[in-house]
Amino acid sequence: YVTHVIAAAEITAEMGLDEVSIVSALLHDCIEDTGISYEDIKKQFGQTVADIVEGVTKLTRVQYTSKEDEQMENMRKMLMAMAKDIRVILIKIADRLHNMRTMAYLSEEKQRTKSLETMEIYAPIAHRLGMQKIKWELEDLSLLYLDPIGYREITNKLNERMDILKEFMTSVEKKIKTRLDDWGINATVYGRIKHIYSIYRKMYSQKKGLEEIFDLCAFRVIVDNITECYNVLGHIHEMFKLVPGRFKDYISTPKPNMYQSIHTTVIGSEGIPFEVQIRTWEMHHTAEYGVAAHWKYKT
Ligand code: MN
Repeated sequence: YVTHVIAAAEITAEMGLDEVSIVSALLHDCIEDTGISYEDIKKQFGQTVADIVEGVTKLTRVQYTSKEDEQMENMRKMLMAMAKDIRVILIKIADRLHNMRTMAYLSEEKQRTKSLETMEIYAPIAHRLGMQKIKWELEDLSLLYLDPIGYREITNKLNERMDILKEFMTSVEKKIKTRLDDWGINATVYGRIKHIYSIYRKMYSQKKGLEEIFDLCAFRVIVDNITECYNVLGHIHEMFKLVPGRFKDYISTPKPNMYQSIHTTVIGSEGIPFEVQIRTWEMHHTAEYGVAAHWKYKT
């Protein structure tokens, strides 16, 4: 019990939330699992913490008749709670993330129900709140339980190719870094393998095997300011051949969830296409933690 609430509080802290949120995360299962009441919490930790804990409890406690009703009701409760205090949702997401990370010993049926709910409710909400990092982890963990065979097929094949992929990523990283250094642009450059669920979706929507999916890697260039983002873009397009129709400028036109970056897909000398995302550190923080990052600045 205590391990779970401490982990949920840790995730809340990683999101960059405030003290009230972390305290509430530590207490989030109190009303549900112990004899402690709303009034007790209010007396010891104040009204705000008590309200948040009660909010999280209400999200947990919904009773349903059918599967669809359940999901509709869940979504409705989420949105209602969101309007009152966004921290309720953020703690609920932290709670769910830790549940998903520790589901290995639950029954198969429980694993599937939780994963389906995560895929249909929690991951989309994390997405809408701009919390990319958590959304990806929720999706990958859900996929692991919803289609374990498909999941392992992808991870096995990625592992077989890991040496080649790593070599490719290092060579592209080096090329970009050297060029930017030469031009006096201070940048952090790194490659990463795309997350499992995005590869999975691509394989199924395009009916392709993993060997036919070329852009398994994506690169990030993080710089200090917006002018440098556009400078970097110029360098990337001069160094590599542009793949038409893939360029997106979410800096001048941010996504509704506040996401900002420039995306472009190019082809290297190896003939392999890859995506490059260019952003500032501030944009990077917003992309990873979304509304949580933003919320913190506002208070
Ligand atoms: Mn919990």
